[in-house]
Amino acid sequence: MQRTFSIIKPDAVRKGHTGAVLAMIEKASFQLVAIKKLSISKRQAAGFYAVHAQRPFFNSLTDFMSSGAIFVMVLEKENAIADLRKLMGATNPANAEEGTIRKKFAGSIEENTIHGSDAEETAKFEIGYFFAGYELA
Ligand code: GDP
Repeated sequence: MQRTFSIIKPDAVRKGHTGAVLAMIEKASFQLVAIKKLSISKRQAAGFYAVHAQRPFFNSLTDFMSSGAIFVMVLEKENAIADLRKLMGATNPANAEEGTIRKKFAGSIEENTIHGSDAEETAKFEIGYFFAGYELA
């Protein structure tokens, strides 16, 4: 079993797509280990996306991620990290495959509905950024 970290981003929460996104995740056999609704500050978003600090879209991305409620969650299944990335689809929804979450719901390369960890080390950092050990017992 492997765990990954995911966020339902503010665009999806605003548009009322949270339930539909969760349904796709559960249908794909992920166990929902933990989930919570949060509103994060721009500084908290910057800490989460620190690896992107030098990218030209960093300021806009952190504004977006702090623009409304999000759901942060920990998901579990075999091969969870790669399988969630596949279910999410490409970063730019214009390039996302049919049947993926971003193809179905994402409005733009930035407002793209869902985040998923891209590697084991990243998943560890991201889970620890938002969840304490007792929440995952
Ligand atoms: P992901 O792993 O598919 O989420 O993509 P990245 O790690 O490359 O980027 C993190 C997030 O930054 C993406 O999910 C988008 O919300 C945003 N992003 C990525 N590339 C761009 C871009 O070229 N322009 C803008 N405005 N946002 C971007």
